[in-house]
Parts: sequence; structure tokens; C-alpha cells
Amino acid sequence: MGCRTSKVLPEPPGDVQLDLVKKVDPLQTDIYKHFIRGDGSGSKMRGEKTGSPPPQAAFSAAQAPTNTGQPEASDPRRNKVAKYRAKFDPRVTAKYDIKALIGRGSFSRVVRVEHKSTRQPYAIKMIETRYREGREVCESELCVLRRVRHTNIIQLMEVFETAERVYMVMELATGGELFDRIIARGSFTERDATRVLQMVLDGVKYLHTLGITHRDLKPENLLYYHPGADSKIMVTDFGLASTRKKGDECLMKTTCGTPEYIAPEILVRKPYTNAVDMWALGVISYILLSGTMPFEDDNRMRLYRQILKGKYSFSGEPLSLHARERDEGERGGDGNAPW
Ligand code: ADP
Ligand code: MG
Repeated sequence: MGCRTSKVLPEPPGDVQLDLVKKVDPLQTDIYKHFIRGDGSGSKMRGEKTGSPPPQAAFSAAQAPTNTGQPEASDPRRNKVAKYRAKFDPRVTAKYDIKALIGRGSFSRVVRVEHKSTRQPYAIKMIETRYREGREVCESELCVLRRVRHTNIIQLMEVFETAERVYMVMELATGGELFDRIIARGSFTERDATRVLQMVLDGVKYLHTLGITHRDLKPENLLYYHPGADSKIMVTDFGLASTRKKGDECLMKTTCGTPEYIAPEILVRKPYTNAVDMWALGVISYILLSGTMPFEDDNRMRLYRQILKGKYSFSGEPLSLHARERDEGERGGDGNAPW
């Protein structure tokens, strides 16, 4: 297998749930995020980060700390930025101004930065590599990011490494996560969902051609390049990706992913292929069109049972009149055009 062959979990005690749930998280009390990214963060749809921070919107670029002239102590967001700034290697801060925290996971923090001389904005993902899991996630991510160049995949610009942390400077996506747009809109029309999926599929097709399987496709990892409605989408977060090396068989074995998006073949621990990304894209398609999850249960065992049975229902909600009229207008239809 590729560069993540060491990330194989201990043999299961026979119970799918138990066997998927233990891993130490160095930064939070959370467990196991990068292997099985757990739910429980409040929003049912955000399938990750047990005990995670508030939704990233709270730290979005639009709400980035500005110079209010107030003392730091009175502005918690400024304090947060100052706290993360202190974690940055001097080589990084010599070149980039740390502006705002825009994302956080079990092993990583993502900040918006500005290049000091060009004033160009970027994102820096800082990964803690003191612990094995963090190192593996980081290796996996770098292994992919160093190889890829595609309009629908986030671009790595440069990397700084220290004994305990890796800083990946990436292009900045300022349009937020697909996740937040689904929450804001409720659901997408078929036309808009198709546009989104087309872009994601272009990126995923490119990855698969290179022998890369993402293994954690979900709306939180699909970012809009800019805030406009016509923005392109970019695939990000390659912490769980598997890269097939030349001559490798294409089967993978590691149990990993985000519970709501995991393909059944992973759950039953069969060797699996890059088709697991297509399963996740099916889940994402369902979410886009309905605004709900196809498989959802607070009890992880029941959730996995639903997935294994393929038990879901989709009662296609009629499109709102407004959305239908707009779509038909765009198509120049007469109102009777079939979907
Ligand atoms: P994790 O492994 O912690 O999920 P991600 O790479 O998914 O790490 O980053 C966490 C969050 O940070 C993303 O969901 C997104 O909101 C934000 N983020 C990550 N990379 C970028 C980027 N290049 N531009 C803008 N936001 C980003
Ligand atoms: Mg992520």
C-alpha cells in the first residue's frame, strides 16, 4: 500500500463500534478523530470532532480580528490569535503575519496568514507531529499535496518543518466550507448540486488517476475558493489519504474515515478500493439534495448497521416554487420540462 501502510488499527475485538473508537488525541480530550472522525460536536451533520470547538464560521475570515484599538485582554479573538501566533516557528512568522484561526482539528490548526512582503493571503495548516498519529496524518497529507496540481484541489505553496510541528502554507479558500453553505441554504437545487458534484468529481478523478484515495470526503473538506455563488470548489484535508506506490496492489485495509460517510466494505474490514470515495460522494449528493443525512444515528453501532444494510430513504422534497421558477427560467423551459 501507499505511504500510510503503518496506519493499520489493532485487530478488532469483534465489535465494530468498540474496535473503531480508541485513539489518543494529543491536543484535546477527543479520541480517534483522524482514524474514525467522530460526531458529537453539536451539529448532527458535521460528522467529526468529538468535543470539538465551535463551528469554524466563528473564526471565519469575514470575522477575523480587526484592530479595534481595544486592549487585547478585552477581545477573546485577538487573544486566541496571539496564542496561536506564539506556536509558530520564527521562520514562519518572519515571512507571514498570522491573522486569524480558521479551522482546527485533533492534530491541526489552520490559520489565515498574510505574506509580509507581497500582502498575499494564504492558509497555514500547523500539524503537531510529536505523536505517532499526528506524524502519520502529516506524512499522508504532504505525500499527496506535494504531488498534486489541479484547479479543484487545494495547492501547497511551501512547507516548514520543526521537531514537533509541520507548517503547510496553502492557497487560501475564502468562500468557506460546502458544509456551511448547505446549512445556510437548507438544500441545493438539482442544477446547483450537479455543479458542485461536477467540480468535486473532477478533483477526485484526478486523484484516482494518480493512485490517491482521499478517504475523508465530506462537506467540511470541500472549500469554496471565494464567497461568490459562482465560486469553484476545492478538495482539501488529505490527512487520511492513501497513495498507491508503483507496483502496489490497489487494495487498502486501514479502517478510517468519518462515520456517516464510511463505505460498508470498510466497516466489514474487507480490503477496499478507491470506490470508497464514490460512496462518500453518494452520501454528499444525498445531503446536497435533501439537506439531511442518509445515515444518521447518535448510536454509532446503529449507524453502522444502517450503512451496512444500505438502509436509507429519500422522499424527494418538491423544489420550492422560487427555485423551480429560477431554474426553468435559466433553462428557458416552458414549465413542463422534466427533471
Ligand atoms: P482537519 O484534519 O483538522 O479536519 P482540515 O485540513 O480539514 O483539517 O482543516 C480544517 C478546516 O480548516 C477546514 O474544514 C476548513 O474550514 C479550514 N481550512 C483548511 N484549509 C484551508 C484553506 N486552504 N483555506 C481556507 N480554509 C481552510
Ligand atoms: Mg477536515
